[in-house]
Amino acid sequence: MSAGIDTYNIQGLEELVAGLGQPRFRAMQLFEWLYGHGAVSYDQMTNLPAVLREELARVAPLQVPELVDKRISADGTHKYIMQLADGALVETVGIPNDTQDAAEGVGRLSVCVSSQVGCAMACRFCATGQEGFTRNLTPGEMAWQVLCVARDFDMRASNVVIMGQGEPFLNYDAVLSALRILNHPKGPGIGARHMTLSTCGITKGIERFSTEDEQFRLAVSLHSAQQNVRNELMPGCASAPLKALKNALLGYQAQTGRRVSFEYLLIDSVNDGADAQAALIAYCAGLKAHVNLLPINAVEGSSYKPATKARMHEWEQALAAAGVETSIRTSRGADIAGACGQLKNSRE
Ligand code: SF4
Repeated sequence: MSAGIDTYNIQGLEELVAGLGQPRFRAMQLFEWLYGHGAVSYDQMTNLPAVLREELARVAPLQVPELVDKRISADGTHKYIMQLADGALVETVGIPNDTQDAAEGVGRLSVCVSSQVGCAMACRFCATGQEGFTRNLTPGEMAWQVLCVARDFDMRASNVVIMGQGEPFLNYDAVLSALRILNHPKGPGIGARHMTLSTCGITKGIERFSTEDEQFRLAVSLHSAQQNVRNELMPGCASAPLKALKNALLGYQAQTGRRVSFEYLLIDSVNDGADAQAALIAYCAGLKAHVNLLPINAVEGSSYKPATKARMHEWEQALAAAGVETSIRTSRGADIAGACGQLKNSRE
């Protein structure tokens, strides 16, 4: 079977069109139909010659993901299950924010995108980590998640976080291609600084990401600055020790000058003690980092419980007093199986 049009990045579309004997500008017309207008069929692409549309349908079928389930949280978050052309299911989350975009005067919409079907990293607190890895997503499958959510909200997506199912740096090329599609002015045109890639700490990926031209942002799921606790919570990361991770982040900052966000799920009696706090403060020393403290969502069958609100505030104050920029983030969509992979698993 021919690879779908979703497997092509921008350069690949140019080569595809050239290979079909068409001038280069046709590739950008095709791109604009796919990612600017969100076309679901080649028949819609009326300014492309019929013969090209027929050839494209033959050599690179266009099969957009189908939205098969949607839950709406009391806080306005939408969680979606998309079915891909091969039947695989992935989760995507749309998070509206009433804050006005200063430049455009409109509300903001963040889309949390999955980069893989399943995940090999096996983090113990994560429903996706329990299901194992199935396959990488293509650039188009990631970009379409954003288009689909924007269409459902009937508003432009202002922010993208590659923080859904999967470890993006284990699908590096396709993820970067998706970010470039989303960034392109003839596509959704989302600013690079409004797109964040979240890794659990793949050091080779961080090193490579340091060399990219665009100002995409980097977040790291840290969850513990103590090696033994982190190994327990995130066994897939044990081969990249915290020291190597910090060195990679120092290199990233030396190269880009950009700040890194640390995601830290506070789990009662696991990583919320005084020693854990001191370890995190020490880990942030020398880094331009912003720590986001999050309550863990309860996952069925897991013994992990969220730290108390009082504990979270105590951490926020202690980190701030130590000069570490910190925010408490509320967990959006907790009433609709908010944790990554939960809705999909419950559906399956
Ligand atoms: S938290 Fe992220 S990296 Fe860890 S298993 Fe889940 S999807 Fe994979």
